[in-house]
Amino acid sequence: MKPFAYLRAATADHAIDTFTSRAGAQYLAGGTNLVDLMKLGVAAPDLLIDIRRLPFDRITDTAEGGLNIGAGVRNSDLAAHPGVRSRYPCLSQALLAGASGQLRNTATTGGNLLQRTRCPYFQDTTKPCNKRLPGSGCPAREGSHRDLAVIGHSEHCVATHPSDMAVALSALNATVHLYGPEGERAVPVTDFHRLPGDRPEQDTLIRPGELITAVELPPGPIGVRSRYRKARDRASYAFALVSVAAVLELEQGDVRYAALAFGGLAHRPWRARVAEEALHGAPATPENFARAVEAELAAASPLRDNGFKVPLARNLAVSVLTSLAPHPDSEDLS
Ligand SMILES: Cc1cc2nc3c(=O)[nH]c(=O)nc-3n(C[C@H](O)[C@H](O)[C@H](O)COP(=O)(O)OP(=O)(O)OC[C@H]3O[C@@H](n4cnc5c(N)ncnc54)[C@H](O)[C@@H]3O)c2cc1C
Ligand code: SF4
Repeated sequence: MKPFAYLRAATADHAIDTFTSRAGAQYLAGGTNLVDLMKLGVAAPDLLIDIRRLPFDRITDTAEGGLNIGAGVRNSDLAAHPGVRSRYPCLSQALLAGASGQLRNTATTGGNLLQRTRCPYFQDTTKPCNKRLPGSGCPAREGSHRDLAVIGHSEHCVATHPSDMAVALSALNATVHLYGPEGERAVPVTDFHRLPGDRPEQDTLIRPGELITAVELPPGPIGVRSRYRKARDRASYAFALVSVAAVLELEQGDVRYAALAFGGLAHRPWRARVAEEALHGAPATPENFARAVEAELAAASPLRDNGFKVPLARNLAVSVLTSLAPHPDSEDLS
């Protein structure tokens, strides 16, 4: 491993000032992704700025009735938070579907959003990869791409974003709060992750030196009737082949509000706007759910070995939406 320096930041400004004054600096949170990438030689920072002692470790109610989640909040603490479990259940379910208990005890909210792709070529420094080494090529297109993207990809990159949490945050319309050399700004999480286009090396809209300080969830009732489900090769400790986060509000059996996001399909959590539009005002039936999801997935263009993801995504989404819509004979159709 290449030698590197280590510094524990005392304040956010200390972290940012140090980052901007030292080439090759990188922030360290839980380290569960970054340290692995350093061991593989994919990341080679000269300086690690440890941000774990910054005061971003709280979950607080916002004045509007939502939740403010500090970027340093551990995945396990977020999953177990009573307000998250009761008001945003799909977020808790997504977190618990990810990694392992030990990893979740260390991994943070900010680090989870910024984790890198699991594309095997990205992690192997003996292979070309446009994301790791811009302009070197994308061997995954013709090579091993069973787990990779079926929608929104480009000739330059077909990687997927691995986070479960980000898929739930996308369906919940969360906002990412950032603080950096140019001050504070807020970005909807649906805009935070990029599609690859011709710059796959850039996963997100974060600027050099910026810190994620918090993620904010809007107030309920959005999210109360919400669910996350993940299809994967093993029952635990595996990344999503396809995952679905859905939020559904009904009125007299019709869809008053629907939010649907997919994981495992694209370079970013895929918010299914076409399906949402088709569902608005429609009776909450499995047939309408299927039609809406099929309209969304009509834009998919799978590669040689990952066409199975399209029917898997369809079936998973229809099953999740159906599970959120009570049977018409039951009294709970509010
Ligand atoms: C074996 C294994 C299995 C896993 N399975 C899953 C899974 O099924 N689902 C899933 O979603 N994830 C999974 N993960 C990934 C795991 O969730 C991430 O590694 C973790 O969330 C990253 O958080 P961290 O705090 O450790 O980030 P770090 O590794 O510390 O940092 C990751 C990146 O984010 C940057 N960063 C961190 N915090 C900030 C901040 N506040 N502001 C600016 N930059 C920041 C760092 O500089 C670095 O570039 C798995 C990981 C492993 C090792
Ligand atoms: S899919 Fe993206 S990450 Fe994978 S090899 Fe191609 S450019 Fe690299």
